[in-house]
Amino acid sequence: MTGKTHQEMLEKYAEAIVKVGLNIRAGQRLIITLMATRGVPHQFAPLVREVAKAAYAVGAKYVEVIWGDEEMLRLRAQYAPKDSFEEYPTYMIDTIMNMINNGDALLSISGSNPDLLGGLDPEIVGKMQTRHLNAAGPVSERVTTNAINWCVVAAAGEAWAKKIFPDLSVEKAQEKLWQAIFETCRIDQPDPIEAWQKHIDSMKERARYLQSKQFTALHYKAPGTDFTLGLPSGNLWISAQSMAQNGVAFTANMPTEEVFTLPDRNRADGVVTATFPLSYSGTLIEDFQVTFENGRIVKVTAKKGEAALQKLVDTDEGSHRLGEVALVPASSPIGQRGHLFYNTLFDENASCHIAIGRAYRFTLTGGEELNDEEFISAGGNVSLNHVDFMIGSAQMDIDGIHKDGSREPVMRQGEWAIEI
Ligand code: ZN
Ligand code: ZN
Repeated sequence: MTGKTHQEMLEKYAEAIVKVGLNIRAGQRLIITLMATRGVPHQFAPLVREVAKAAYAVGAKYVEVIWGDEEMLRLRAQYAPKDSFEEYPTYMIDTIMNMINNGDALLSISGSNPDLLGGLDPEIVGKMQTRHLNAAGPVSERVTTNAINWCVVAAAGEAWAKKIFPDLSVEKAQEKLWQAIFETCRIDQPDPIEAWQKHIDSMKERARYLQSKQFTALHYKAPGTDFTLGLPSGNLWISAQSMAQNGVAFTANMPTEEVFTLPDRNRADGVVTATFPLSYSGTLIEDFQVTFENGRIVKVTAKKGEAALQKLVDTDEGSHRLGEVALVPASSPIGQRGHLFYNTLFDENASCHIAIGRAYRFTLTGGEELNDEEFISAGGNVSLNHVDFMIGSAQMDIDGIHKDGSREPVMRQGEWAIEI
């Protein structure tokens, strides 16, 4: 530990979020929200206020927060009339869209209750989820095309902390989770901003190497996994830092350990076995396998949560296909912690993963300029969903396949096999 108080760490964290994550420019406005639960729970106020201070310190013109109460979502699923789930309060979406159209920065704080909708009628939960995804579609579209500088970070919510560390008191669990957040986000380093710069530079090197190889497919081999995934021509390997259309270089996820691109929506064949459970829409999906033919999911099996997994796949045509392929070494500082975080922001940085659903336009050369049909015919995937699940392990080998069919190692036993 660094000997710093929690308050001091929170200030450092807020500074890194503002300077590295969002890279807020003087004169920009900032909106803080939490998309999945339609607003930031009040328990995150101490972080929100530090972020606001840090944002004003670098010249932000105005900081807005959309507050929410996650319990209201659960109450609704339990008690609202069964035929009422088409009802949707669009004012939050309108506010966010207004700020995006103005070129403002967007911060999303993750860390609310991962089991919020657990144990409720999956039919109703599915309806609410689909309605929300539909309503939030325009925001997702603008965010995934990097219209503005945006960032997702975590706060150690009570229920989330308790889920990761069930044997500890709420207070101790939160303390431990904050520590994990600070360490994986390099806030415990003497100079977090400088540590991030170094990390971003080395991730960029990996991405450059993969880009130079122009692989046309990847082949994954591990216990329960034998899987070939095509990469469309023009695919871009991305890491840590991106350039927004408003001209600001930003880091969309803190923490981040992944180098990723888009797969070809029509070229995925074989079976993948998940190496971590997937927490989706309040349900934990465990010990699952997904089978692909010609890019399409043709079968899912799970020891737990199979209905939720099938529901996710059945959302639309695009959620039968993949939209992201990401490489993360098994030695990642998050993977090394050895426990699930029940939160994609962390778990996806623990291990190699793929995502069911939407591909990010910025992972294809010129992708931002294409309409849906053009993007699809270039191999990109369009869906209401984008849900990552983890497939990497210290037993996984990955080969890169060249156009002429020749192969070269990309990862061996879960670690990078490429020299940079
Ligand atoms: Zn990812
Ligand atoms: Zn993803």
